[in-house]
Amino acid sequence: MFMNPIVEKLIAWYERNKRRLPWRRTNDPYKIWVSEVILQQTRVNQGINYYYRFLEAFPDVEALAHAEENDVLRIWQGLGYYSRARNMHLAAKTIVNNFGGKFPSDYKNISALKGIGDYTAGAIASFAFGMPYTAVDGNVKRVLSRLFGIYDQIDTSVGEKKIKEVAKELLPRRNPGTFNQALIEFGAMWCTPRNPKCGTCPLQQHCLAFAESSIEKLPAKKPRKKPRDRYLNYLVIHHSDHHHFYLRKRSDAADIWKNLYDFPLIESERPLSPEELVNTQDWQKLIGENYYSLNSRTKKKTHQLSHQTLHAYFWEVNIKEVLKPDQAAGIVKDKKSNIHQYPFPRLIDAFLQENFTEYGKNNK
Ligand code: SF4
Repeated sequence: MFMNPIVEKLIAWYERNKRRLPWRRTNDPYKIWVSEVILQQTRVNQGINYYYRFLEAFPDVEALAHAEENDVLRIWQGLGYYSRARNMHLAAKTIVNNFGGKFPSDYKNISALKGIGDYTAGAIASFAFGMPYTAVDGNVKRVLSRLFGIYDQIDTSVGEKKIKEVAKELLPRRNPGTFNQALIEFGAMWCTPRNPKCGTCPLQQHCLAFAESSIEKLPAKKPRKKPRDRYLNYLVIHHSDHHHFYLRKRSDAADIWKNLYDFPLIESERPLSPEELVNTQDWQKLIGENYYSLNSRTKKKTHQLSHQTLHAYFWEVNIKEVLKPDQAAGIVKDKKSNIHQYPFPRLIDAFLQENFTEYGKNNK
């Protein structure tokens, strides 16, 4: 059968150069799904540990569907983009409820699952079931924009459409999954964002960007917006018994870290002095005069997210009386010995590791 020379060379390159990764040794759609979701926004080296941890905790769809959301988030802790974990959890419930726990094997049902977009659906359909669907991720966009000299911005609908059309034209009917994996791997290992290995590239003679000396310009992307600064004043509340702590479950679906835990929070437009902090409405509502000391030597941490720079100030507050239920709406009070049971974003995890012996002890 005739095979496009680009496809042929790419697959030959893949067979010689591919990394031996655990999710490449299986065609179990559940395991492939887990690996693909973890690897979105995560490097392979870091992702491997999470992949093993996740499968150990939730070895199949049933186990994931029946897990508590807190436990799913705990396993995900540190990976970021927590909606990925919440969506997987919801999708697992759908698979159990609608498909008797068996992963759907047709594209329409796969792509209808919560959190599964075009790329992940194509990856599962082609890797696990050998179906002829493309899987266009950032690596593939980079490779194809360079190979075919596509100058449209790849993060716009026009650019994305062009790349997908090219990927579809190249996709072989035989072993489409291997082709997709080869393209992704080639982008990750050879046609990298910086310093691609053009000198030893098997596709060099087909590459328009190489011929036109425009590799540095491709892929074209929309200019990045400057991340927004946020100032988070966390109240690390101590009561005289010293055995309890106060946390807050984050419930705003429009904000970061939904359903993870942090401390009672007062957000401000800029850094605050202790006097300014105690004069805020939020302080008055939550603490008022119910404190006898506020540590003004706060611990500060900066945390970078893709669209936000978080400046977090941890204020140690010693309160006189335990918070009343109306003061503490949405706030959880628990024993310090239970603190390791909650899912935390990485920023809070790092603070706890450094400052709460109980957390460090139980969270290895
Ligand atoms: Fe990528 Fe360079 Fe190969 Fe072109 S020649 S496909 S830019 S590695």
